[in-house]
Amino acid sequence: MGRGKFVRWLPSETNYVSNFLKAVEVAEKKGINVTQFGIFDLFNPSKYACVSPHKYKIVVMPNNTDVLFCLGAQEEFGAAVKLFTVGRISGKKLYINKRKLESLPFKFSVDKIKKCKSCFIKYLCKGICPALNAARNGDWKKPDNFSCHIRKGIIKGLLVKKYTELAVGRD
Ligand code: SF4
Repeated sequence: MGRGKFVRWLPSETNYVSNFLKAVEVAEKKGINVTQFGIFDLFNPSKYACVSPHKYKIVVMPNNTDVLFCLGAQEEFGAAVKLFTVGRISGKKLYINKRKLESLPFKFSVDKIKKCKSCFIKYLCKGICPALNAARNGDWKKPDNFSCHIRKGIIKGLLVKKYTELAVGRD
């Protein structure tokens, strides 16, 4: 199917959250589930952002030469791709920059991020995707503000929705 055109544009956080929650309502009536990065792990809490920091997975890109820390760090992430490139394949040989690999978020738990310490969704959000953080802030340990706001807004909205439905159902 190919890919859409890449446009650097972000809606406001408030618009994003309210429109996402509206989309959930509309989809529900049609029997469709909609999802969003921030709720992928709604029922799968963890301290680690994804399999790369958790399970020591690295990724060979489709060009068969670059080895990246994770799938998230793709070309639209600009300079972050370099930060997350940990090796290459040449012929039948695999070269890994061990020092660089060890500097990336292996077993880096959300509990180590100061901003996230007392967040009510920290084990669902896990401090956002390290590659996205690096692309937005130049630092994989610094959560992207936009994603932080929308995750809190969406999860709060879904909890309120569920609570309201249950409360109405009890009457
Ligand atoms: S929503 Fe924000 S504060 Fe909460 S865990 Fe995610 S990045 Fe941290």
